[in-house]
Amino acid sequence: MSITATNVSKRFGEFVALDGVSVECPAGELVALLGPSGSGKTTLLRIIAGLEVADSGSVHHEAENITHRSAKDRHVGFVFQHYALFRHMTVFENVAFGLRVRKWPEEKVRDRVMKLLNLVRLPEKAERYPAALSGGQRQRIALARALAPEPKVLLLDEPFGALDAKVRTELRHWLRQFHDESHVTSIFVTHDQEEAFEVADRVVVMNKGKIEQVGSPIEVFEHPANAFVMDFLGNVN
Ligand code: ADP
Repeated sequence: MSITATNVSKRFGEFVALDGVSVECPAGELVALLGPSGSGKTTLLRIIAGLEVADSGSVHHEAENITHRSAKDRHVGFVFQHYALFRHMTVFENVAFGLRVRKWPEEKVRDRVMKLLNLVRLPEKAERYPAALSGGQRQRIALARALAPEPKVLLLDEPFGALDAKVRTELRHWLRQFHDESHVTSIFVTHDQEEAFEVADRVVVMNKGKIEQVGSPIEVFEHPANAFVMDFLGNVN
């Protein structure tokens, strides 16, 4: 299912965090919101998720206007930077949480949770607690939990930001592979251009609350739209 934000603006007091931003994420694509810290990436993601209210503009799922829907009615899965697993629950219980809240029958809960633990390749950890997992494993469980209620869109906010370089690289490959298997329309926030270019189908470059360029990784890399994009890519290289 495609997701579109149109002409979205957001202020925090006098500060303009988003200034008339429009972005489209076609069905089944993996899109990266890329830009320096403070460019408005997380704010945009949170508005798409329904966790933050825009001052103006709209959000659509396909043709359906969801601008005024609450987060829980948007069929969106959200993965935060700091996995935010429930520490007192087992891995199984963490992934089952959203299904039990939605009153799924216990038998279906078990099937769905085990399917997801297989998908993230951690079925043997079902009865462990988060404290017994590595950072990368916790983030994979957070992803399984976000996917459990069958969201139409998956939103990831700097999903690997808290991990060390080696694990980040592993998880990048894993996210790409995982996306190719699941085909869930996904948007992830990153300030790391290498991560965006390696993983995404489409890159949205943001700066100071505006979009500077949208394109495939190769388009953006080979033909930066302006001096900002060129500088940003050059500086990180
Ligand atoms: P990014 O994800 O690109 O780092 P953010 O969307 O988190 O950027 O933030 C954009 C700007 O908006 C930042 O300068 C940040 O300080 C400001 N901002 C974000 N959320 C709030 C808030 N709740 N209150 C005040 N300012 C905020």
